[in-house]
Amino acid sequence: MPEGPSIIIAKEKMAEFIGYKVIAAAGNAKIDMPRLEDKKLLDIKTWGKHLLLCFEGFTIRVHFLLFGTYRINETKEALLRLGLTFSNGEINIYTAAVKVLEGDINSHYNWSADVMHPQWNEKAAIEKLTDKPDMMICDALLEQDIFSGVGNIIKNEVLYRVYVHPESRTGNIPEKKLKEIADQARKYSFDFLKWKNEGTLKKHWLAHTKKNCSRCDLPMYKEYTGTKKRRSFFCTNCQELY
Ligand SMILES: [Zn+2]
Repeated sequence: MPEGPSIIIAKEKMAEFIGYKVIAAAGNAKIDMPRLEDKKLLDIKTWGKHLLLCFEGFTIRVHFLLFGTYRINETKEALLRLGLTFSNGEINIYTAAVKVLEGDINSHYNWSADVMHPQWNEKAAIEKLTDKPDMMICDALLEQDIFSGVGNIIKNEVLYRVYVHPESRTGNIPEKKLKEIADQARKYSFDFLKWKNEGTLKKHWLAHTKKNCSRCDLPMYKEYTGTKKRRSFFCTNCQELY
């Protein structure tokens, strides 16, 4: 599943179409395609894993889910979900959930929950964590209302960075540690973005898919943790269970 930073990369790649009118819209997405024609793409925004194509009075929300992909100025052998042709090229989207959001996009999103957004509010995230003391931190980090944009890779790397066991209950984690987790959720996301752009993301993984803890020289555990049952990679020697 693409995580927040990958959606920012998509946004950057599609930026060349901002200011251009849609000449043709196609695909099997259940939206009013003719409505898009002759409309100017005004902006592209992201909220966590959502890519937002903004037009006058409405926005197309693209959620890439597990297997969503896109191509720019080329196509792939798959059913087209949404294809937008502009005078300077085309965007083709596959296997994603596409929806139209009416009206002002700011009324649909709480930007401060997005770990990569300039309005990211770390304090609000910590408050949401303390409101759910029984939740495991591995589940909490994947909650898009708390840490929008964080996916499973970021979760594993953040918990390793801050020495916290994924099955720790948020209510048992000291507040200072919660602050570190929230802080690293943002920092790691920007590292992810930089490394992904360089093509070196996997090389920088310290926990995700790793067999050994480089700090302890001991085997890492791989378990499907929390109610979300997502893969966690962790070291029981240096990651504390709160
Ligand atoms: Zn370790």
